[in-house]
Amino acid sequence: MESFNELQREILRLKAEKNALILAHYYVPLEVQDVADAVCDSFAMAQKAAGAENDLIVICGVRFMGESAKILSPDKTVLLPSPDAGCPMADMVTPEDVMRLRKLHPEAKVMCYVNSSAAVKAVSDVCCTSSSALRIARKLDCDEIIFVPDKHLGSFVAAQVPEKRFWLHDGFCPTHHRVTEADVLAAKRAHPEAVFAVHPECGEDVVKYGDLVGSTAEILDFARRTGAPEILIGTESEIVERLRRELPEKRIYGIGSSFVCPNMKKITLRALYECLRDEKYQVELPEDQLRAARKSLDEMVNS
Ligand code: SF4
Repeated sequence: MESFNELQREILRLKAEKNALILAHYYVPLEVQDVADAVCDSFAMAQKAAGAENDLIVICGVRFMGESAKILSPDKTVLLPSPDAGCPMADMVTPEDVMRLRKLHPEAKVMCYVNSSAAVKAVSDVCCTSSSALRIARKLDCDEIIFVPDKHLGSFVAAQVPEKRFWLHDGFCPTHHRVTEADVLAAKRAHPEAVFAVHPECGEDVVKYGDLVGSTAEILDFARRTGAPEILIGTESEIVERLRRELPEKRIYGIGSSFVCPNMKKITLRALYECLRDEKYQVELPEDQLRAARKSLDEMVNS
């Protein structure tokens, strides 16, 4: 406790006073993660919010994460510390895009990555996370799948489910998309003994080098369990920092020169403090959208 700075202590005081639950994504700054009740990926955040007794939930993440928490906890107050922290990939697909793809491929079911707006979830058949996408695609009762918005995760899944036809939207995460094959090869040359754990939001020419291709939580788990003393991490830089702190006996390296999600860095301690102090930036969604988006998330959980 003594190592917390003044702002962190104030946040913890307000959190206790208001009986708030603070949930943080792995990509927000470590100093924000340090005052959270739990640090997790986006869907686990929404599930924790729904399972908690607290009526006030603060989601330290980007907008779609706050929306997912609200969808699963419609009666709770869900706050986002930085309302302008969006996800460019989620913004690349609209409900109109989904309806257009449905018209073109009327036999297909729509699978949407959880990194999407509530409005897009509301017009999809089922959601998925990066760790459940493959299982859900295999199980889905159809021969054709429209996958939105991430073309990289979509093609990673499609390659492993050859019995189905995929129609991919052309969205991508600018942060993961930026990393190139040359970046991986340079990192491998610098650390030839290292194993490589990579997120499927990266392009195919990067993912193909992965000893593990998995979600953020799976990458963390892999790094903890592997006997390899050197690990290359193919995802957002905060994961590298977190692992360096958690596993000082291992050598953890990032890939490329700036593997940073600028939107996640908008969730600063100051933004969290002011959000909690003023109980501002509530997530509000129309009733019909909440209900329809909930169906896609429930479908994912039950698949
Ligand atoms: S890392 Fe990519 S997918 Fe995640 S919030 Fe940032 S832009 Fe969106």
